[in-house]
Order: sequence, then C-alpha cells, then structure tokens
Amino acid sequence: APRAELTRAESLIREVPDYPSAGILFRDITPLLADGRAFRETVDALIAPFRGAFDVVAGLEARGFLLASAAAYASGAGLMPIRKAGKLPRPAAHVEYALEYGDAEVEAHADFPRGSRVLLIDDVLATGGTLVAAHTLLGELGYAAAGTAVLFEIAGLGGREAVGDPTLHTVFRS
Ligand code: AMP
Repeated sequence: APRAELTRAESLIREVPDYPSAGILFRDITPLLADGRAFRETVDALIAPFRGAFDVVAGLEARGFLLASAAAYASGAGLMPIRKAGKLPRPAAHVEYALEYGDAEVEAHADFPRGSRVLLIDDVLATGGTLVAAHTLLGELGYAAAGTAVLFEIAGLGGREAVGDPTLHTVFRS
C-alpha cells in the first residue's frame, strides 16, 4: 500500500485516555474500520508479509475477529475464531492465562486438519499475554504457526519479547 495511505489510516486510530480503566490509553480502531479505503489498505498491509504462507486466519475475540475475517476473505483462507471461555459449543482446546487483574481463558474448535498453517491476527499488542495464550492454543490443536500479525503495537510493555515470534508483524506502533 502507498505509505501515504497507511499514514492516513494510522491517523484514524483514536486514542482514548483512561478507558476501560484509569491509566490505560485505549487504541480505538473503529474510526479506521469506518473508512473503507483505510480498512482495505490496512488489512492488505497486515497480511502482505505472509502471502501464500498460511491456510487459515485465526482472530482473537472480539476486535481481532473484525480484522481476521477480512484477511481470510481477502486471501481465500479459512477463518478460525479464538473465543473467550464459555462461548463455543464444543471447544477442543482451552488455555488459561493471567491478565493484569484476574485470569482469562481462550478456546477454539478443531475444524482444520492437524498441521494447518495458521496466521494469528489481533488488533492491539500490549503485554503479549493474549497472543502467547493463542499460540499455545494453536500448539494444543496441532496447528503450525504461520505468523503473527497485529494492527497496532504498544511499545515498552514487553509484548514483542513475550510473544517471541520472529515473524511478528505490526502495521503501526507507538
Ligand atoms: P495483551 O494481552 O496485554 O497484549 O493485550 C492485548 C489484548 O487486549 C488485545 O486483544 C487488545 O484488543 C486488548 N488491549 C490491550 N491493551 C489495549 C489498548 N491500550 N487499547 C486497545 N486494546 C487493548
């Protein structure tokens, strides 16, 4: 994508101070999604390094779904929703992980053959805990990690190091 178009797309990410709690600077991607050209260019940039290298796109509930669904459609890949606990009728795998306050759990179905190459997508990378759990989930299901793509990387929280995936690709970063 032309760099100027991506720069314009980045300017559409809204910074919301103290949401959902004091001290958090929330990166709201909905104004970017609202702009058809920015949405398309951003999804294209998200998957560009991995073209031809994945069979499935996995998205993290809930905002990761919005990007992963578009990425799967654009590339002809299947879509794998990774959900929070208790939402799937027959989860084949679940992984618990620690959040800043309390615990969380992600689950998925096993609707793809073992060895499927999965590109993992989310909207924002902060501490990396969510993506680490998602990678563990892929491993439990016998899938191969084809890469990790995130729209916005918050620097300085150790997320990139925690994920530890040399393929980690982020379109925008703080
Ligand atoms: P983490 O597991 O700490 O990397 O947090 C990443 C997950 O939490 C992603 O699914 C994001 O949607 C969400 N998230 C964390 N911090 C923010 C933030 N500052 N703005 C928007 N989303 C965030």
